[in-house]
Amino acid sequence: PVRVRFAPSPTGNLHVGGARTALFNYLFARSKGGKFVLRIEDTDLERSTKESEEAVLRDLSWLGIGWDEGPGVGGEYGPYRQSERNSLYKDYADKLLQSGHVYRCFCSNEELEKMKEIAKLQQLPPVYTGKWANASDEEVQEELEKGTPYTHRFRVPKGSLKINDIIRGEVSWNLDTLGDFVIMRSNGQPVYNFCVTVDDATMAISHVIRAEEHLPNTLRQALIYKALGFDMPYFAHVSLILAPDRSKLSKRHGATSVGQFREMGYLPEAMVNYLALLGWGDGTEEEFFTMEKLVEKFTIERVNKSGAIFDSTKLRWMNGQHLRALPSKELTNLIGERWKTSGILTVSDGPFIDEAVQLLKDGIDLIVDADEALNNLLSYPLQSTLQSDEVKSMLEEDKLSEFSASLLAAYDSGEITAALEEGPAGWQKWVKGFGKSLKRKGKSLFMPLRLLLTGKLHGPDMGATIILLHKVGLAGIVDPKLG
Ligand code: GLU
Repeated sequence: PVRVRFAPSPTGNLHVGGARTALFNYLFARSKGGKFVLRIEDTDLERSTKESEEAVLRDLSWLGIGWDEGPGVGGEYGPYRQSERNSLYKDYADKLLQSGHVYRCFCSNEELEKMKEIAKLQQLPPVYTGKWANASDEEVQEELEKGTPYTHRFRVPKGSLKINDIIRGEVSWNLDTLGDFVIMRSNGQPVYNFCVTVDDATMAISHVIRAEEHLPNTLRQALIYKALGFDMPYFAHVSLILAPDRSKLSKRHGATSVGQFREMGYLPEAMVNYLALLGWGDGTEEEFFTMEKLVEKFTIERVNKSGAIFDSTKLRWMNGQHLRALPSKELTNLIGERWKTSGILTVSDGPFIDEAVQLLKDGIDLIVDADEALNNLLSYPLQSTLQSDEVKSMLEEDKLSEFSASLLAAYDSGEITAALEEGPAGWQKWVKGFGKSLKRKGKSLFMPLRLLLTGKLHGPDMGATIILLHKVGLAGIVDPKLG
């Protein structure tokens, strides 16, 4: 059975890279009818915090990436925090000691330093050359009786080791330069690679899908796996997420944590869709995916071997796509709430909001953009518009005074108001007639009309805008005496 895991270290926020790793694991499990396990790797007690763990869980839940086993859910392979699994690590370290895969090393730090220096001088790899790899039982017994502290050191075999990575293909290592490594420190603290291996093995993980930066760890982990006598899992190392300049994505490139994007008003649906496309595609041009669709289409074989570029402009665009795909009631509620919270409006629902959302939604990518869009719609910055060269030349060429005089007359006669009251059809009919009377149509009719009625040269659909402005009593007719 397929069992995968996401194993965050709770030492900070959930980064987009981590979120993508979690997502690929989740999609793989769901598409295979397997289980998705969440394990907290908090062995680094100094850097791990409860707040960070909570933030990671919250962000995963927000994205809709739920776990079948793990903190808060339980499961038969628990506990799911490494800090609660110490006795297990101890047991397996003892097992390896008994089977001879591990030996006690009584070397002091000074001795180890000296060995390193000598190796460096001789330009040799930092391979352990101390005597404890082949010490006799008597020598060991003697140190034990003296109470000399010791580490558990893994005996690395000669030769080479290779794995078949699902994404990267065959990866092989020369073991001769690795050197016997410590799996448990003299204070009884197990070493990271050892914990990961014991956990993956005892949690019956079938596929280890994780970031490429863990590939070097795989060597030690695979050796420990073999020594413990467990079947090796399949490995899939996903490439890094890069910044547009192809360097490693970091804070200096802007927002990088899921929490930041949530606070900026991104939708979880858009985040999930965008993250999935970082290194994966279904082989077609399709870019819009819901979580459901991703589960249906995802295959690990299609995950790309090269690094994927994090493009925040594209993410923003993607958010717009998902925003407009929301059921219209939901979108209206979200935006209405937003306008109320930001103080632009005093109510959060009603016909005005329904219409304004319909009018503005095509021009926004984030819910927060709706503030500026509405402010723009309701404001009347005619003065600055009139100063622009574009407008000045339009006014001169078109001799707009005749135009605006007619418009003013139509307004004063109540004709425009009556048309507006009839809604879009009434408005269109009036515009047509008005154009005819001035022998204008197309751009030469609509541009000055929009300018004179809204004070702007561009904006959403004019008829709808003006009807809406009329409703809130903000439509204005400008004085035709233009400089
Ligand atoms: N705890 C590791 C990390 O947060 C993940 C280790 C793994 O997936 O094997 O980077």
